[in-house]
Amino acid sequence: MKITNKLNLPYGLVKAVSPEPHNKTGEISATTLIQGTKHVILTQRHWDELEDDVSERIWAVFGTAVHALLETEGENDFTEIELKQKVSNITVTGRLDNYDMATGTICDYKNTSVYKIKASWQKGSDGKPYGFPEWQMQGLIYAWLLQKNGLPATKCRFIALLKDHSKTEAERDHLYPQSPVFVYEFNVTKEALDDIESFIRRKVFQYEVYSSTEDNLIPECSAEERWQKKDVYAVKKEGRKSAVKLFDTKEEADEKIAELGKGYYLEVRKGESMKCKNYCLCSAFCNFCQENQNLVSNEDADNVSKAA
Ligand code: SF4
Repeated sequence: MKITNKLNLPYGLVKAVSPEPHNKTGEISATTLIQGTKHVILTQRHWDELEDDVSERIWAVFGTAVHALLETEGENDFTEIELKQKVSNITVTGRLDNYDMATGTICDYKNTSVYKIKASWQKGSDGKPYGFPEWQMQGLIYAWLLQKNGLPATKCRFIALLKDHSKTEAERDHLYPQSPVFVYEFNVTKEALDDIESFIRRKVFQYEVYSSTEDNLIPECSAEERWQKKDVYAVKKEGRKSAVKLFDTKEEADEKIAELGKGYYLEVRKGESMKCKNYCLCSAFCNFCQENQNLVSNEDADNVSKAA
C-alpha cells in the first residue's frame, strides 16, 4: 500500500501508521472473515495499488498504543493469545486481546466513537436495536477457535473506549453514553457457536470460490457489510425544493400524502453504503461502488418542516 504524507508529518508517525497485509498467505483472520468477501479479495489483489494518507490513518496509532498498554497478564489471564483452525484449505486465525481461562471470558478492546454506541441503540426495521453485530461475530469466532483448541469460552466482553466522548454532552443529553468507556458483553451459547461455524464455513467457501474470479464478477458485499443506511421516504410538495417530512416506511409516507391531498408526492431516497463511500480503500477497483456513486444522499440538508 502506498502511504502519502500530505501534511508532511514526522517519519515516526508515517512508520507507525504504515500497514502490512493483514493476513499471511493461506490464512484468514476473524476480523477479515466478518468483512465482505469482495472487499477482502479486492484489498488483497490490489494491495500494492491502494493508497491512503498518514493523516487518515491516525486512529490506528491509538489502537496499537492501547493494545500495547494493556498487555499485562493477570494470574489466569493471557494477552494477545493467537489461535488457529483449518477450514477446507484455509487457516482461520484469531488474536485475542485478553482471555481469562478460569472463567472462559474473552475480552477485546475497541477504540471507537460515541456515534457507534448511539447507532447501536437505534431500531432496525424489525423493531429491535441494531446492537453490535460485527463485534458479536468477532467474539463468537474467537469462542469457536477456543473451543476447537480445547479451551473454554463462556462469555465475550468488548470494552469500547470512546475517543470523542464529551462530559458536557453527557450531562446535557441523557441519551448520550454517560461514560467514556462502554462495555458490551454476552454469553456464548451452543446455538450461537453452531451458527457461527456455519457462517465461517460459508465465508471460507465464498473466499475460495471468488479468489480466482475476476474483480467485476465477484458479488458485491452485503448491505450490512457495506453499512448501508435505510431508504428514506420523503413527502414533497410541488414547487418546493426541500421535503415536507421524511418517513422510514413507504406506508407512512403514502398516508401523509393522502392526508395532505393534491400537490404532494413521494420521493424515495436510497440509503447510501457508507463503507463504500468513505471507508473502503479498494472502492476504486470495485464495479459496484463505481456504478452506484449517484445514489441520492439521505444526508441532503433538507429543511424539513417539523410542524408537518
Ligand atoms: S466498495 Fe463497497 S461493495 Fe465494493 S468492495 Fe468495498 S465495501 Fe464491498
